Amino acid sequence: MDYIIGVDVGTTSTKAVIYTLHGDIKGYSNQLYPLYQDTPDTAEEDPDEIFNATVKALTDVVSKVSGTVRAVSFSTQQHSLIALDKDHKPLTKVITWADNRAEKQATEASKSGLGMKIYNKTGLPIHPMGPVYKLMWLKKEHNDIFENANYWVGLKEYLMWRFFGQLKEETSMASATGLMNIFDMDWDDDILSWVGINRKQLPELVDPTYQLTGMDNDIAAEIGISPKTPFVMGATDGALAEIGLGAIGKGEVAVTIGTSGAVRTFVDKPQLDPKGRTYCYPVMNGKWIVGGPVNSGGIVFRWVRDNLFAPEKATAKMLGMDPYDFLTEVAKTVPAGSDGLIFQPFLGGERAPIWNGNARATFFGLTRSHTRAHMVRAALEGVVYNLYSVLLALQEAVGEPTVITATGGFARSALWRQMLADVFEHPVTIPEAFESGCLGAMVVGLISIGEADDLSVVKKFIGKQNTYQPDPSNFENYRDLLPIYLSVGRQLESEYDSIAEYQRKHPHPEDKKD
Ligand code: ADP
Repeated sequence: MDYIIGVDVGTTSTKAVIYTLHGDIKGYSNQLYPLYQDTPDTAEEDPDEIFNATVKALTDVVSKVSGTVRAVSFSTQQHSLIALDKDHKPLTKVITWADNRAEKQATEASKSGLGMKIYNKTGLPIHPMGPVYKLMWLKKEHNDIFENANYWVGLKEYLMWRFFGQLKEETSMASATGLMNIFDMDWDDDILSWVGINRKQLPELVDPTYQLTGMDNDIAAEIGISPKTPFVMGATDGALAEIGLGAIGKGEVAVTIGTSGAVRTFVDKPQLDPKGRTYCYPVMNGKWIVGGPVNSGGIVFRWVRDNLFAPEKATAKMLGMDPYDFLTEVAKTVPAGSDGLIFQPFLGGERAPIWNGNARATFFGLTRSHTRAHMVRAALEGVVYNLYSVLLALQEAVGEPTVITATGGFARSALWRQMLADVFEHPVTIPEAFESGCLGAMVVGLISIGEADDLSVVKKFIGKQNTYQPDPSNFENYRDLLPIYLSVGRQLESEYDSIAEYQRKHPHPEDKKD
């Protein structure tokens, strides 16, 4: 029997799923690693811890089958940066997408117009997550590292270096660095000179279906595969999750709400937003992904659970009930629209659509009759309003969606699923997809080894789907509230800097501890 493995190297863990070539799952492994947050703005990981976790995940799933592993294919977190010395030893940890230390450089680039120039060449929105801004920050704040780095790579490139001793980078990942020109599909010489690095410091660019072979014998033996097993480069986790959900056709939009969230869709040519609100990266087979990542996802629900309902959380736990399910019941006691209470969900700044790290959350419209139950429901609704506003930005470039697919931890709640259909005023399909990033990677692997012709093969592997229809008695309330939500957001914008500045000057003890 032949098998193929899809690996998803995420922010909290590496997941591996082993499939038959017909998409049947034969094994799964999830290996966790820490995120190091020495300051509130720092979010780093250890590249070797992630390498070890990846080897362990592969070893685990290979042990579940006997037969030949035809390929291993990768989905990986985007926007990471590692400096390597001349021997390819890391000079930094993995500076992840969640690291905000380049905030100043991103803000300056936004004000000077440099940021839009970079966006218009690369499709990377102006944000400290972008390796291009991290390089500017390192040059300014850690010039010793900047000067001593022989190579600049992301996490996947480092892992492939450890497996194969070759430095390659596939084009979807490269475009998310802000250094690759999406029209030439090559490193952009202007940007490299603005940043002060050169081509020799960057990996050679290859396609997502590119195979690396000739693995280190000892590592192959540890995993239990032949050293000849091809590793397929794969693509970004965003693009592959989208493929794994089957949202590959024109107008098929996927909404994800996990800890963070995203709205994405495929298009067949580069589509940039004149206001720079959505990203645009090449994927493969003439497909491009456009979308907006948001910080305000399930983490908002976690804040409600931990900070507004701490005693109930403890009680629910004692009763053996999931506190999120308990809170969902509380939210259900309030009508759609929370009797006019609106929540701007920006507890941790926001990426799409406003791209403002200083944005802060607000309850707007509170009256004496509102209760904590209103606050839970308004918080959930606020997350969905924000995702809807990302869709509005996306629609300007790509038109109305034909299908909306939704996924992530939030999909465990029927209330939240219905809310999505009601706010978006569109049917929402929830696939029972398992680890869509691994499935997307597996599909790219199948194409690479000639076992599938194109991405549409994924449709065969996707299980049952449930569809939620918008309910008129709810969406009419949302129709009235959405313009207020959007207008309040615009009006608050001018005060975000001042409140964030105050909070930086007077940090909360919890933030200092972070
Ligand atoms: P990650 O994005 O880290 O992979 P998940 O996709 O599992 O995580 O999403 C986690 C989020 O899902 C939590 O922060 C929470 O908001 C939400 N969630 C988890 N369980 C439930 C539930 N039973 N009902 C509603 N939301 C839930």
